[in-house]
Amino acid sequence: MKIFKTNNQLETIEVGKKIGNLLNPGDVCLLIGDLSAGKTTITKGIGMALGVKKVINSPTFTIVKGYKGDKGPFYHLDLYRLNGVNNDFDLEEYMEGDGVCVIEWPFQVSEILPKEYLRIDLERLSEEERKITISGIGRYQRIEEAL
Ligand code: ADP
Ligand code: MG
Repeated sequence: MKIFKTNNQLETIEVGKKIGNLLNPGDVCLLIGDLSAGKTTITKGIGMALGVKKVINSPTFTIVKGYKGDKGPFYHLDLYRLNGVNNDFDLEEYMEGDGVCVIEWPFQVSEILPKEYLRIDLERLSEEERKITISGIGRYQRIEEAL
């Protein structure tokens, strides 16, 4: 486990950049934390490190947004409202594809999650402080150690 404490949004984006620099095509990150914990914020940093030029915003109403990054596609999934939408797309295709895939509210689909992933837990300590805990499961242990 690696733990970071951030004091503002920019610091969380910086942690995201560190993570993004260690990711490769095909990698999956699961983001765990309440609303406003900073899941979308850290995703911005991950995307920046992967060369995404567009501004990453919450995909809450679309479930998935795809971006072009330097190392291939970057997929940002937010499954918060998954059960409210008519999802005729195949989530596993994103998780098993060659893109980097970051998923908010992943336990909405516990049964189809990959066995190995980078787990990022975000906790709101105060208005502007966040605790970010990173655990590499399986082959992602390497990323946890490199942080
Ligand atoms: P989530 O996707 O988990 O719902 P967001 O990243 O969309 O959360 O929102 C986090 C909110 O908290 C933003 O409004 C952001 O400005 C604010 N915030 C305050 N301090 C921090 C911090 N240290 N890290 C991340 N976000 C922060
Ligand atoms: Mg969000």
